Amino acid sequence: MLQILSNSVMSGLIIMGIIGAFSYKLGFVDISGLISAFVVGFTVWYTGGVAAFSVLLFFFISSGIATKFKYKAKLKRNVAQEAKGKRSWRNVFGSGLIPMLFSIGVYVTQRLAAAGLVNPSLSFWMFGGFMGAVATTSADTLASEIGVFSKRKPRLITNLRRKVPPGTIGAVSLLGEGMALFAGVSIGIIVLLFAVLTPGWVPITSSEQILLIMPLAVLTAFIGCNLDSLIGAVAQNRYVCEICGAITDKEFHCGYETKYVGGFKRFTNACVNFSSSGMGAMLGVVLGAGMFVWIIGALFFWVLASSSN
Ligand SMILES: [Zn+2]
Repeated sequence: MLQILSNSVMSGLIIMGIIGAFSYKLGFVDISGLISAFVVGFTVWYTGGVAAFSVLLFFFISSGIATKFKYKAKLKRNVAQEAKGKRSWRNVFGSGLIPMLFSIGVYVTQRLAAAGLVNPSLSFWMFGGFMGAVATTSADTLASEIGVFSKRKPRLITNLRRKVPPGTIGAVSLLGEGMALFAGVSIGIIVLLFAVLTPGWVPITSSEQILLIMPLAVLTAFIGCNLDSLIGAVAQNRYVCEICGAITDKEFHCGYETKYVGGFKRFTNACVNFSSSGMGAMLGVVLGAGMFVWIIGALFFWVLASSSN
């Protein structure tokens, strides 16, 4: 037991060291982001195992690349992340805290189930929550970082008839939705491969759960990403640029200070991500429990409601 423990710790430290060095060198994170990514990464590695960690790694690498993708073009168009796209502890915890909690949930429920104290399916539900949270934040990051290159003007999620400039809070585009689906499918494939090739690395207790993996990943990515846009549009701090008229979360735009126009002042993008990943996790738990009818039904009414205004 002690041997396994020390191995898992050692291997985790080595892998986290390598990934940390690369991501710092590539400018994915600043020092505070690096330390918090280490905390999240190591906890998920230790509690959720290799499969969960690979899902998190997909998020980390794809978000890093998407943020750096055509960064200069994004700077010119005022849609780039600040600090050369380096993520700080706020960003990392905003997207990583919920997945980390659910990964711990997998670990705890597995041990409780082994002692016969809880239903073994609980671990898969926790894993569903983990997947849902990571799928949401991956989808959101890829959709916003790549979606800004949409050729067609994006529309506002709270009023789909209204066209808005790229980078507007709550703006959605077909390209962005496509990226969200891509994130969901990728995460689904990663988990499915582990579930089939190395059963035991994914906390599956019945073979039907394997069938849930792909729809769970795709639905949480798609719904979570749009929920993120919705929460952003409704609650996030908004500033207007008096030069170009864009509504952003940035205090500077077009080289000038912007004017605060609405939303909760302290409700930043990291807070939006935290909220949406929490909702993505809840969706994942519900879907992991096999209750698809509820989610599909809710999605149906949502699309109906949002397309009728
Ligand atoms: Zn501007």
